[in-house]
Amino acid sequence: MAQALACAVLLVWFAWAGAGAQPAPAAPPARHVIVFSLDGARADAVQAAVPQALAARGTVSWTAQTIFPSSTLPAHASMLSGVGPAVHRVTFNDWSIGEPYFARTTMFTEVTRAGGRAAAFVAKPKMMIFMPPGSVVSAQHLVYPRFRQADVVEVAARLFGEQRPAVLFVHVADPDDTGHRRGWMSEEYLRVIAAVPALIERLLRAFEDAGVTAQALLIVTSDHGGHGITHGTSRPEDMTIPWMAFGGAARRGVIVDRRIVVFDTAATALAALGVPIPGDWQGRPLLEALQGP
Ligand SMILES: [Zn+2]
Repeated sequence: MAQALACAVLLVWFAWAGAGAQPAPAAPPARHVIVFSLDGARADAVQAAVPQALAARGTVSWTAQTIFPSSTLPAHASMLSGVGPAVHRVTFNDWSIGEPYFARTTMFTEVTRAGGRAAAFVAKPKMMIFMPPGSVVSAQHLVYPRFRQADVVEVAARLFGEQRPAVLFVHVADPDDTGHRRGWMSEEYLRVIAAVPALIERLLRAFEDAGVTAQALLIVTSDHGGHGITHGTSRPEDMTIPWMAFGGAARRGVIVDRRIVVFDTAATALAALGVPIPGDWQGRPLLEALQGP
């Protein structure tokens, strides 16, 4: 299956490169991408928690911005679909099974269209809005370990090993939950964020265990920050999000100080896999984060 997928992705890549749509490297840097969203993680808190030695193993930005309103569904809509809220029109923050799914193209629909497997593992049921039937081979929301991020990541890491998806979206909600209950930057909040490096290492180990590290990319980011016990405003504490890339497909020792927007994440995931980016997306791939010529 992994070989068939690799062939499919390469075929798509060559077809794209051959069409001359955009200048392209000889081969896409990644066959596997994990996008890991830390719901409610502030950039400054994550920066303080990530050791220099870990940051040096990848590409990092501590000034990336989410969209307004800085809330979970609007921001994840942008993270996954490559456009801002004026285009995707998700300005609500609640959704239940049975309501209409998100209808625009996402990194899931585009990877699936290119012949790859997309999977998702989310910690809030409303996040299932982004996984309409047919867009992913598997999507699960975890009610039981919702606020046990290490458990969510452990299960997701095992799922990666079993299914080897081209793209896997992993979402944990502990920072957001702790922020709402105890306050952003509270002792409890910082304790949750202090565990982030271990979560990153666990997902990188999933690449190693599968023997795919050289052609794998892990993007770590968040949907919004927070202040006091809330978020959703245009304040910098709410709007500034971490953005990191690790794995063999990521450039090492790069600090990005140009403007990154949350909708650049989906475009970067597709670029890493060599999957064409829809022409109507606003997001642009962070090519400086990716290995390549
Ligand atoms: Zn959120």
